[in-house]
Amino acid sequence: MKEYIDRGALLKELERFPHLQMAGGIVRSMPKEDVVEVKHEEWKLCKGSITYSCTYCDYKAFPREQEEWFFCPRCGAKMDGERKGQG
Ligand SMILES: [Zn+2]
Repeated sequence: MKEYIDRGALLKELERFPHLQMAGGIVRSMPKEDVVEVKHEEWKLCKGSITYSCTYCDYKAFPREQEEWFFCPRCGAKMDGERKGQG
């Protein structure tokens, strides 16, 4: 499985190491890939209700749907509850 990194974040990190200036040029020369960022959210039980809502877009799901849907049907968030650097 391929893994992707944030080119801008890597270039910024490389700025901390002046002896690695050439590495920045190599990073910039690498081809770009079309990558979709994955939102990591979770189903949260709605207060006073049996329904759950997506913590990103507030889409409502019934208990059985909440158990079976690993992705929010509205916003596409992956419902694994691991929030990683939203922004
Ligand atoms: Zn959602």
